[in-house]
Amino acid sequence: MSDASSEAASLESGGAPLSGRVALVTGASRGIGQAIAIALAAQGADVAVNYANSEEGARATAAAVEAEGVRSMIVRCDVGAGSGPAKAMVDEVTQQLGAPAILVNNAGITRDNLVMRMSDEDWDAVVRTDLSGAFQITRACLRGMIRGRWGRVINIGSVVGSMGNPGQANYAAAKAGLAGFTRALAKEVGSRSITVNLIAPGFIETDITAALGEDVIAAVRQQIPLGRLGGTEDVAPLVAFLAGAGGAYITGQVIHVDGGMVPS
Ligand code: NAP
Repeated sequence: MSDASSEAASLESGGAPLSGRVALVTGASRGIGQAIAIALAAQGADVAVNYANSEEGARATAAAVEAEGVRSMIVRCDVGAGSGPAKAMVDEVTQQLGAPAILVNNAGITRDNLVMRMSDEDWDAVVRTDLSGAFQITRACLRGMIRGRWGRVINIGSVVGSMGNPGQANYAAAKAGLAGFTRALAKEVGSRSITVNLIAPGFIETDITAALGEDVIAAVRQQIPLGRLGGTEDVAPLVAFLAGAGGAYITGQVIHVDGGMVPS
């Protein structure tokens, strides 16, 4: 049975579309990741909630996930800490919930500065967290996806990876790198019914954008054809869609959710 027909059958029998699937969402203690975890749970997935520091936030996400009638767990791991911790996290999730078949590489940081003033540390921290971490966690999940003959890898990039932004060369490079990683991996694993896509949000109201001043926000709003910043609710439903039957034939894509900032 194809992906689409098996999930249609699940719906017909009263099951939720992602029922029986395990999802791992990195950086799900707040912001976009928290909304994604809850959106996947609403479709029936069991969700592992990764965080680095905000245990309280992670617990709140897990409680909201469980309120959807599915299982959850929190798992602390700095996604930029290397392949050992990445593998340990995936093993822990596999033991408690089952092998993650849906991976959302959402955790990300910024360390802004102009290139002339940017330290090696700030360059490395962003590339390690936003790009290398996604690679290492994805690699750790692939064996289980291949064994299960089904997988969804959804990377969270940024509009900045496509259009650049002064003061964010490290972040733009990491997010553009994530887009290249997405396209290459999609070609490697497509024959295993594993799709790999990247969602590139524009300016979304979270802690990251709260750090920008009012004048910066006003200038940004001018560049958005829809005339407003996005909310986490503008991003999370697309993740749920790509993870579900509707996303079965979409792979290797960079999808902008940015109010029209970057024309495709
Ligand atoms: P946020 O509100 O700052 O939340 C960041 C999340 O990532 C938190 O859950 C944080 O966990 C986690 N995190 C940070 N470093 C981590 C690490 N080393 N290991 C594990 N988790 C880590 O950010 P957001 O706005 O929701 O952004 C989420 C993603 O969307 C990021 O990849 C970001 O680049 C991307 N994005 C955001 C926007 C925007 O306008 N907001 C636009 C484009 C792209 P702790 O709380 O435990 O530290």
